Amino acid sequence: MDDELLQRIRRFRTDYFPQYQGQFKALVDQGQHPTTLFIGCSDSRLLPYMLTGAGPGELFIVRNVGALIPPYNGLHGLHGTAAAIEYAVLNLHVSHIVVCGHSHCGAMKALYEEISPEAKNLDAWLDLAREAALPVQVTPEALRRTEQRAVVLQLERLMDYPMVRQRVEARQISLHGWHYVIEEGEIHVFDVKTGSFVPASRAEHSGTGPYQDAEPEQGAIFNEVDAAWYKT
Ligand SMILES: [Zn+2]
Repeated sequence: MDDELLQRIRRFRTDYFPQYQGQFKALVDQGQHPTTLFIGCSDSRLLPYMLTGAGPGELFIVRNVGALIPPYNGLHGLHGTAAAIEYAVLNLHVSHIVVCGHSHCGAMKALYEEISPEAKNLDAWLDLAREAALPVQVTPEALRRTEQRAVVLQLERLMDYPMVRQRVEARQISLHGWHYVIEEGEIHVFDVKTGSFVPASRAEHSGTGPYQDAEPEQGAIFNEVDAAWYKT
């Protein structure tokens, strides 16, 4: 029987690794200094390196179902994503944090469906996105909006992490909310000032910038009246 995975990992070493050997050696000798924490959905169609043109050592990546961020609630439990955020900020001193959702996200669709009783962890995990769900009939448009609302919700939760908020307010970290539309090959960037997602081809910047640039008196962070998560 062909062991395709074995062939592929052999091929990595023979065909791919040699081009980057020097780079990998430097990254081992000098350690990693990625500037960006990329929090993305686990979806197989979301390709952080390809999307950002990043090479070895450039992205510190944490991926999970839905690109969700657990609350910083002081329980200090088994939160892999929370641990990655703390490590990226406190140890790696990243200057950008990207939260990247995407079109046709199974996690967002699952918010409108029955979850298998066997999937207890998945069911609980999706609670982190439930506020993003809309009380409407599920349509492609509703799903798109849910996906985008979920990204904003995670950005809000990210700001509850004291080490993140502190650095965002000190302008040492900028936050980026992205929604990747798979079939268009385009990332839509959340603009905190207008509260909307703008296609990267037309956007003026790659993210929200420092949160303090937002103007709360102009309304909700998301341009919808039901933006319940808007707290400041
Ligand atoms: Zn997804």
